[in-house]
Amino acid sequence: NELPADPILENRRRQVSKACFSFVSPKSTSNPELLHVSPEMLNNLALNEADSKSETFLKTFTGNRILPNTKPYAMCYGGHQFGNWAGQLGDGRAINLFEVEHHSKRWTLQLKGAGETPYSRTADGLAVLRSSIREYLCSEAMYHLGVPTTRALSLALTGDQVLRDVMYNGNAAYEKGAVVTRVSPSFLRFGSYQIFAAKQDDTTLKTLVDYTIKEHFPDLGPARTPDTYLEFFKMVSQRTLDMIIHWQRVGFVHGVMNTDNMSILGLTIDYGPYGWLEDFDFGWTPNTTDSQHKRYRYGNQPNIGLWNLMQLANALYPLIKDIPALEGVLEAYKTNFDIASLQMMRSKLGMQTEIAEDKVLIQDLEENLHLTETDMTIFFRNLSDFKKDTPSNGLKVVNDAFYKAAEVSGVIIQKWETWFERYSVRLKQESISDEERKEKMNAVNPKYVLRNYMAQLAIDAANDSNYKLIDELFQLLKQPYSEQPEHQKWFAKRPDWARHKVGCSM
Ligand code: AMP
Ligand code: MG
Ligand code: MG
Repeated sequence: NELPADPILENRRRQVSKACFSFVSPKSTSNPELLHVSPEMLNNLALNEADSKSETFLKTFTGNRILPNTKPYAMCYGGHQFGNWAGQLGDGRAINLFEVEHHSKRWTLQLKGAGETPYSRTADGLAVLRSSIREYLCSEAMYHLGVPTTRALSLALTGDQVLRDVMYNGNAAYEKGAVVTRVSPSFLRFGSYQIFAAKQDDTTLKTLVDYTIKEHFPDLGPARTPDTYLEFFKMVSQRTLDMIIHWQRVGFVHGVMNTDNMSILGLTIDYGPYGWLEDFDFGWTPNTTDSQHKRYRYGNQPNIGLWNLMQLANALYPLIKDIPALEGVLEAYKTNFDIASLQMMRSKLGMQTEIAEDKVLIQDLEENLHLTETDMTIFFRNLSDFKKDTPSNGLKVVNDAFYKAAEVSGVIIQKWETWFERYSVRLKQESISDEERKEKMNAVNPKYVLRNYMAQLAIDAANDSNYKLIDELFQLLKQPYSEQPEHQKWFAKRPDWARHKVGCSM
């Protein structure tokens, strides 16, 4: 590793300076047990199912064995949390084990929940089964949805108990400890750069940026001038934009878009209190600690992407020293986001061409979707059955998406009928048939996503030592765009008991 390392070789909590990471030892666990392994990820690492059944695999990916010639480490970073600079954060419960190169791809393998590091602050460095299942299932599901994301290789129990304050009743309770092995080309975050800018340590900042460009942005070439760094910032900005457009498309709400949770590669990272839109609502956030300001609500994710890029621009400033140029990139993000967002919504509606009025048609649709609780996934999936010659059937086609169909009456029916009329007129300006449109729409509007209650059912069963549902959901979510009629029960509105429940992160 070419990056400066912390000279202190122990896990003790401390402030770290002039170093990008600290060597640490994962914590041994009392009774490690693998619950699930991703076959796709095994493949990417040149491993097979037999390998995953070995003692070495089990021990390595629960922190109980360190492979020869590897040196596990935790990364140093800072970040803005809910808009405020929080100083040093770092991998408080993540430990990078080693890198694997296969088929010209480089992967870093990281344990989440393997014990304290210098960056653990007041917490224990551990993870519970509940949050580990959520991360394991969702990160692989996002990959199969075509959303840029970090991946997961394995989910394991540690055999140890972990003490947690459970938010909904306020009492501390023991829960099963778990470790997820996460995999990504890199776990560098905006906060990885911010920490050095905050300490005015331009030397380490430059070392880290140069390393990032060399390893992850080779297209930028060998030169290291202010222009190179500006181009780097442009690329990060574009990738961040692409990622958030995908989130909006599938109805994913990250929940904690702090700058320490923004990957420099534009990958979805750190699956905490995330959630999936059920009823379409720009104001929704799954994060109960953000319920007052709703900073990280669905409709605000694009703006927060911009705000976070602004913080990254500040961090990179010492290498670029050109405020108008940096502002230009941020301006471009705004313009390009609007264009990309419109294009994404056109694709969800099965529109292949561009017409100036599309924007209003889409805004009016979004307004209608807010009028009664409307399930986003079911609405867009079923809309692909709309026939352009029979707009009067529109409401019937999407009826299953309404949580309270009885409330769709009077004025609201009128609004929908008008909208379907306009949609029909609009679709007649396209050359493709209803069948062709359906196929295109079903390739961008998933039928199956990890609804909050689905993860919760898998968690409840797992807490009773039944892990079958983890595998069932894992298999289902590998083909989110396929019909899978045998799994139709997961293409359904959230049940009433799950109405206001959301997942916890800790
Ligand atoms: P998050 O909100 O999950 O992105 O975490 C913010 C910071 O808290 C990061 O530095 C995490 O590594 C750290 N952190 C979260 N949970 C724990 C934990 N159980 N033990 C130690 N550090 C943690
Ligand atoms: Mg984090
Ligand atoms: Mg987290």
